[in-house]
Formats: sequence, structure tokens, C-alpha cells
Amino acid sequence: MGRVVFKKLVNVEEALEALYEHVKPHPLGVEEVEIKEAYGRILGEDVIARIDLPPFSRAILDGYAVRAIDTSFASETNLARLKVIGRIPAGEPPLLEVKEGECIEIDTGAFLPRGTDAVVRVEDTSIDGDEVMIYDSVGKGSGIAAMGSDVYHGQFVMSEGKEITAEKVGVLAGLGYHKVDVLMRPHVAIFSTGNELIEPGEELGASKIYDVNQYSIGALVQKSGCIPIYLGIKKDKIEEIREAVVEGLRCAHVVIMSGGTSAGISDLAYKVFDGLGGPGLIVHGIAAKPGKPTIIAAIGDKPIFGLPGFPVSALVIYDLIVDPFLRVMSGKKDEVRRKLKAKLATRHVSERGRREYLPVFLKHRRKALIAVPILGGSGAIASLSSADGFVEIPENVDLIEKEETVRVDLFSDARSADLIAVGDSSPISQIILEELRRSGEKVRAEFRGLEHGLTWIRDEIADLLVVCRPEGEPILDPSRFPSRLTNLRNFKMKMVWASYDKEIFYPGSTFALPRIGSGLRRYAEDSIRRRVKDFDVIETWSYDAAMDLILNRRATSALLPLYIATKYGVKFIDAFSANVRYLVCDEVLSTRVGKRLLRRIKSKELDLTLSSLQGIS
Ligand code: AMP
Ligand code: MG
Repeated sequence: MGRVVFKKLVNVEEALEALYEHVKPHPLGVEEVEIKEAYGRILGEDVIARIDLPPFSRAILDGYAVRAIDTSFASETNLARLKVIGRIPAGEPPLLEVKEGECIEIDTGAFLPRGTDAVVRVEDTSIDGDEVMIYDSVGKGSGIAAMGSDVYHGQFVMSEGKEITAEKVGVLAGLGYHKVDVLMRPHVAIFSTGNELIEPGEELGASKIYDVNQYSIGALVQKSGCIPIYLGIKKDKIEEIREAVVEGLRCAHVVIMSGGTSAGISDLAYKVFDGLGGPGLIVHGIAAKPGKPTIIAAIGDKPIFGLPGFPVSALVIYDLIVDPFLRVMSGKKDEVRRKLKAKLATRHVSERGRREYLPVFLKHRRKALIAVPILGGSGAIASLSSADGFVEIPENVDLIEKEETVRVDLFSDARSADLIAVGDSSPISQIILEELRRSGEKVRAEFRGLEHGLTWIRDEIADLLVVCRPEGEPILDPSRFPSRLTNLRNFKMKMVWASYDKEIFYPGSTFALPRIGSGLRRYAEDSIRRRVKDFDVIETWSYDAAMDLILNRRATSALLPLYIATKYGVKFIDAFSANVRYLVCDEVLSTRVGKRLLRRIKSKELDLTLSSLQGIS
């Protein structure tokens, strides 16, 4: 089979329009649920009070029910004396009536007896035989909640279509509702396609990845007010996908699948709808980045959304296309997205003709807010989950300059980072940063090597630079050393060559090494080359990843801190000593997080923790 060419890309609005032409979303009707189940549901009826709330006038404090007029001249020096003719506990009917000069002891919540119009607090009284002495006058209505004062019989309380909050559950209960009509929740069938996918929880075989989309989409479906039905993982086979679509149409109101939608040779999903009934395929391809390979189809009045396989793309397209549709069906109103302005931290080149949704995280730089693009790509679900929001870049914009003001659409949990750490990865950093995190600082660790770190320091994005260099080598070329950096502390870390084999250096060996641009990379590679000519390298972001490669035998050898090699009990020989330096930007030192960092990095506890790790001093 040949490749499919996307002939006509439509934008998001056009895609929704095309869908609505064939299928209009509408609520499914109402069902009755117990109020225990009502939280988060959408009211399917107007609520009009059928009783007063409170249903009778009652005391709101413990004390004495009185005629206010009998206390009118009472003061500390001129006590009013009233005869106590009885007591009314909460929940008891009031049998007594109060006349001039009398009162009744009353509990909070008890029915106010006839003749009385106020309650005097017990603190403003003292007892003298069968009389009570009152130190303060009270006005009519004081200490009382009058019948119907919260809600009166016949009052309009909540309207249909409103989400039932915890407070509203309380109101419903207070008004005596034990069941309530709510909108029915649409069922949404979800499945993933891809021969490479396996279920989380299973063993990760070679060339397999865990299915992300079924679960992230399932969560979003719930957020849109619907019930997900998980149909599982389907192979890239027309018949299997088709069966899943048919199953989805049978058991749900809407079907969402992901993957298999790009114009690649193995991506056949678009063929699935042929012959299932009209209208069939409606949209194939959307002019958005991420998210081009999106399809929309409908069979009868049920829509089928085919989202891109890349997890980030799938979520973005869900947000733009599926969410609005499902929310009409479920009645759940969209959350209002906060927006704010920030300066883009780096220049960004965008593609003309496609609307781009660029995920960013936020950071305060001096007084201004900056937005830093997250460039993990469409596959980087974890990067996306650390985003604070996104910048929408229109079709006709192909470049945003550094420092240009952009509008950020915020996610609900957005919060700007307090400290950004960059540079070389080292096991020490985790120990230093975890305490800052525990004390509530939002720390972003982006240990992507020295080169990347220097760029972020120079662009004033990052605050803390970790430099790992062989002992005796300069930290950095002095001309490249940003002068605003202060060296906070050095640690020494013994490095070893580790292997699962007897031999470490032999022709054809594969080394796990820090990535190019890391402070130890060049030195490490030169040391290997002096011993063996012919070797391969697998680059890793962290020593844990390097260790994994050895344990899985995908690498024969690795450069590791001694402490990690001993922890896992692999064979090793000494390599060299490295210096791990912590350099911080001067401006940060005067901030709260900077002071905390300084205290932590020079603390006795840190020394103590590190002294227990072999080879670190
Ligand atoms: P596709 O749209 O099937 O061409 O997939 C595009 C990319 O996303 C490939 O790298 C897939 O492995 C990946 N991918 C597809 N579906 C999923 C999924 N459910 N979870 C995680 N990654 C996926
Ligand atoms: Mg696929």
C-alpha cells in the first residue's frame, strides 16, 4: 500500500464545523441518583425549595429564650431577672409558652417557644435559684435563625445544568432531597492502536512502550463529565481496529482511538470506516501542531475521533476538538482558563500554515515573568505534564523573538518555578534538591549536560549550574564562564569503569556514557580511546540509565560514580576523580530559595548524608 497524502488540512474550527454538520452533540437526558452519588454530576432539574430552611425558628446558641422587651434595660449594673419556666432540648417540640417576666432555657438548634423573640447567650447570664440574671439587653431576633431565613419555601435554589458541588449537595440534603435528577453521563469507548504498545504493569520487552493514551484520554474523558470504557490495545490491522470501532459503537455514545492515524505505511485506521454506514470519514488532517494526523468520522449519530498516536498531540487535539463536543453532551461547563502575559525566554520558530500549541513553563526573572518553551516534542508526555500552560501561535506567525510578549493559557495547576537547576547529572544533586522540594519550593531539574546548562544560564532561565569535570581540568573555558556565577561548593566523586563482563575494554565493547556536551564526556571518551580503538557508545542522561543498560546487557561497560557501581554490585576498576561544582547565579542568593539552597548545601546534615556514600567527599 502506498502512502496517504493529506490533501486538505482544515483548522480546528473548520473541523468542528464539519463534524457538527453531521452530528450535533446534545445531552442524553436525565436519570435519578441518590445524593450520595450526586457530587460532580450536572443537575437535570431546577431545584425549587419545597420547605423552609430552617423549617422553624430556632436558637443558634445555648442560652435562654426570652421576650427581647424584657431585657431592654439590662446591663452589668442593672440586671434583668426572669423566671426560668423550663428547658427545651434540640429535637423536642416546644410545649411551653413564655409570658412577661419569664424565659426558657434553650439548646442550640432547638425550636423557639411561643412568645419569645430572642435568645440570650448563657455567657451573659447567671442562675439564681429559679431565676436567671441577665447582664445585657438583646434585640429582637438576636440569637435566632428565623424560619425560612436561609431558603424560603418556593425559592428558586439552583438551576438545571449546574454542576453539583459539595455545598450544593449540602443544600439538597437540607431541603430534604434524597434523590435528585442529573444529566446522564455519556459513555466513551477508548482504545489504542500500535503493535509496539503493551499495558502498564506488564514487563517492558525490547522495542515495546507502555500505552499512555488510553489512560490519559480516559482521565480527560472523566474530566469532560463522561464515563470511559477501556477497550484495550489493538494491533495495526484494519480488521482488528474495525472490530474495536464496531464494539465501541455498540457500547458507547462516542468512540476515541489513538495512533495509526499518520500517513505512514502501517497506519491504516482511516480505511476502517468504509462500509460501516454514513456519513463515515469527515475530517482527515488538521492544521495544528502538534496534532496534524487527526481524523473525525461518524457512523449514524455517533462520532469517532482518531487522535494522533504521539501522546502530547493526542492530548492537545482532545482539548481542542473532543472536549468541547463531550462537554455539550455531559453538560459539564468548561473551566475558565486563566491567561497571562509573559516574555518568551527563547526565540521560537514556528511552522507557517499550522496553528501551534507550544507548551511552556513559567519562571520569575527578577520582576518579570518568563515563559520557557518545553521542547520535548509530541512524544514527551512527561515534559507536557510539567508544563504550566501553552502559547497559541497563529497560522500566519512563523517566528517569535526572544523576550517578545506572549499570552499563556494556563493549566489549572500552573505555578512558576522557584529554582531551575541545570548542567551535569550527578547523584548528589538529587540529595541537595529533595530537601528544597520538601520545604515547598518548586524546583525544576533539567540536567541535560553542561552545554545546555550554560545556554540556560546565559539566557537567564536557570539559577543553579552543576558542573562535573575530571579533577585537574578547568571548570569551563574561562571566556565562557558567566561572571554572575558564584561557586557555592565542590564535591569530589570517584568514577569507575563498570561492566557485567570480566573485561571492560575490548574491541567491539559498547559504553554507556554521559551525553555529548556533558562535562565528563570528552575526557571519558579519550580515556577509552587510549585503550581500545573500536567501540560503540550509547548516550544516557543519567547514571541510573547507564546502570540499567549494563544490567540489561545492552551496554557492556559504563562510566559510573563508584557509589552507584557498588550499590548494584557490578564489576569495576578505577577511572578517575571528578569534581562536582555547584555554581549559583548571584541574584538568586538573596532570594528565599537561594538562602535555603545556600544553607542546605553548606549544612552538616548534607555532609553526613554524603559521607555515607562511597567515593563522595
Ligand atoms: P502513530 O500515530 O501510530 O503513527 O504513532 C506516533 C507515535 O506515537 C509513535 O512513536 C507511537 O509509538 C507513539 N504512540 C502511539 N500510540 C501510543 C500510545 N497509546 N501510547 C504511547 N505512545 C503511543
Ligand atoms: Mg502506530
